[in-house]
Amino acid sequence: MNVASTQYSLNTKSFEIYLSGCNGSCKGCCNPELKDFNIGEELDTDVLIKIISKIKEFDNLIENIWILGGEPLDQRYEELASLIFLLKTNTSKKIWLFTRYSIDYVDEHLRHYIDYVKCGEYLEELKCDDNIQYRVKLATSNQKIYKLSGGQIEDD
Ligand code: SF4
Repeated sequence: MNVASTQYSLNTKSFEIYLSGCNGSCKGCCNPELKDFNIGEELDTDVLIKIISKIKEFDNLIENIWILGGEPLDQRYEELASLIFLLKTNTSKKIWLFTRYSIDYVDEHLRHYIDYVKCGEYLEELKCDDNIQYRVKLATSNQKIYKLSGGQIEDD
């Protein structure tokens, strides 16, 4: 599993991890440069330690860790599960997963370590400016954010 880039957003106080690769074919894909699984660098132990150190160094500025792509759920399952587990257990941050899949695709094990899941494909014809959930602006009106607690959906 490769990480294409990381960045920080002051607006959402989020440290964002962009994983490389997606098997989807959303019309008008908003991140075509991230569809290739081979770009970026392998997210091995050294890279992960660097990421966690950076999050700890800027602890006061970071409330959330966003995992995006590409498509996180198209990654090798064990590698993604391990990443989510290590981020959750080594930081005190809220973990967000951004996926085009439905909430049913996020299994119980992953749900246990995730606080928010953004679900739904990018559908060009449903592009909008007013779908704001949990202070996050979503690109299309079909997309939804689920809040999880202890692996369960908190509200619907
Ligand atoms: S899920 Fe994202 S990266 Fe994948 S095809 Fe859709 S818009 Fe593009």
